[in-house]
Amino acid sequence: MTYDNTLNADGALIVGAGLAGLFCALKLAPRPVTVLTPTPLGFGASSAWAQGGVAAAVGEDDSPHAHAIDTEKAGAGIVDELTAESVAAEAAARIEDLAQWGTPFDRDEAGHFRLSREAAHSKNRVVRVEGDRAGFAIMQALIAEVRRTPSIRVVEGITVTDLARADGRVIGAFARKLGDRYAEPVFIRGRAVVLAAGGLGGLYAVTTNPPGVRGHAMGMAARAGAVIADAEFVQFPPTALATGAAPAPLATEALRGEGAILVNDLGERFMPAIHPDAELAPRDIVARANFRQIKAGRKVFLDTREALGERILTAFPTVTKYCLDAGIDPVMQPIPVTPAAHYHMGGVKVDARGRSTLAGLWVCGEASSTGLHGANRLASNSLLEATVYGARIAEDISGLEPVRTNLAPFEGIAWNETEGQAAELRLRNLQIVQDLRQVMTDLVGVERDEAALRLALRRIAELETTAQGVTRSFLNMTTSATMVAAAALKRTESRGGHFRTDYPELDPNWQHHTLMTLDEALAIRGSA
Ligand SMILES: Cc1cc2nc3c(=O)[nH]c(=O)nc-3n(C[C@H](O)[C@H](O)[C@H](O)COP(=O)(O)OP(=O)(O)OC[C@H]3O[C@@H](n4cnc5c(N)ncnc54)[C@H](O)[C@@H]3O)c2cc1C
Repeated sequence: MTYDNTLNADGALIVGAGLAGLFCALKLAPRPVTVLTPTPLGFGASSAWAQGGVAAAVGEDDSPHAHAIDTEKAGAGIVDELTAESVAAEAAARIEDLAQWGTPFDRDEAGHFRLSREAAHSKNRVVRVEGDRAGFAIMQALIAEVRRTPSIRVVEGITVTDLARADGRVIGAFARKLGDRYAEPVFIRGRAVVLAAGGLGGLYAVTTNPPGVRGHAMGMAARAGAVIADAEFVQFPPTALATGAAPAPLATEALRGEGAILVNDLGERFMPAIHPDAELAPRDIVARANFRQIKAGRKVFLDTREALGERILTAFPTVTKYCLDAGIDPVMQPIPVTPAAHYHMGGVKVDARGRSTLAGLWVCGEASSTGLHGANRLASNSLLEATVYGARIAEDISGLEPVRTNLAPFEGIAWNETEGQAAELRLRNLQIVQDLRQVMTDLVGVERDEAALRLALRRIAELETTAQGVTRSFLNMTTSATMVAAAALKRTESRGGHFRTDYPELDPNWQHHTLMTLDEALAIRGSA
């Protein structure tokens, strides 16, 4: 292949600078690696927003096997047992890596980790930092380590739009300077390509994910021919703040644990009629109850007044701040909430070494589907998975690279703050992007049925046609949207994060992964 606008990454090329990408880059050192990211390090990644922490069986009364069992239970019958066991077994070593690179995990006087308990874990097993600052602290530590590592070159302000293939292998990526959609893309060649560009929450109108995390990774891999697994499984926590803030901040489940109740705008408390545990029912049941209220034209509020009163100010300062920023006084007023797209269990199918079905392409983090999460993720298993597979990929590709260090910066590509932020805002606000996100929320969201999914697929196809030539990034989004809607249409049952009102029961015949290529998804779309 000849291409005028060509750059060579001396070693591996990593697309995305969240936890998965940076962890892999550090594990590859001193082998040369180039990391591409649209925004400056630390921004634009879900990783920095993680509040809970990292799940790891490091408590005295815990074991990796118990962790694996909890993971399998949460995943509703389609977690890969071997994957769950092996990931849980490697957790302690990956936590040690994070600690060595400077993550200040919370510890007791004897130096043992202080562990939190999260939903569906049978033990206290989540390592955390200053309570709810794990993601931010981990990313700060890794970024500092990356900056100190001469074999890692970081290129900020660049968005990858396509994977480049030749001779049956992925050989690099096409990228553009952020917002530079009319210029010729740059081709960047890499000896191995690691896709770590995150999940797809931002494909939905209401999401907790950073605005740039919109299914680009899965979309570009599917367009290159990779097999996608379990695309239909999206997790929607029930109580994101519906204050108009985008992305929507999460109102932690702990508030319901403290006795906060859900009411609608008529003042009716609706959960006791739906489940014996009322507001403490499993998360997806609460999400569906809230969704049905909203669909019926009601508004939903989390009322903390009686349970917490003024205590919310000190016990939940983060939620309090979100409320006050939106002009809501949580001591005096109920808090408006809604379900929001939060985490994608599916993604690019990879094997135990992080290899996708395309030669030359490895995938880690939320962009991948390793089989760990099945139909529903166990809390705090995603940061763990990002580290475990980041490390495994580094080991797998290490043999391919000659060791060289001290990479020079790429000439002519640098993050320009004013220009970059303006471009990002323009892209974010394009009407056609908003239309796509609304289609996903309305028709491929918390509850699905055949008619809605068929309509969604037709609408996605229309938007794609209208947008011909608008941007390759948008094509990645419509591709991901197509994969999710087609897989959701195909799975005629309800399981984990996927709920079909026309097939509300679990069907044992569906106790397996959904594997799909873009060709198959397009055929389903074509007949919708
Ligand atoms: C609010 C919130 C709280 C969470 N809390 C927890 C928790 O407590 N514990 C837990 O385990 N998980 C949690 N999660 C989930 C977890 O944060 C993510 O699953 C995980 O961080 C994903 O890591 P990643 O590296 O794959 O992706 P990300 O961290 O999202 O990073 C993706 C990177 O790819 C870049 N990128 C995107 N598109 C492109 C492109 N086209 N070209 C180049 N680069 C691109 C992005 O800019 C970013 O740098 C939470 C998520 C959210 C949103």
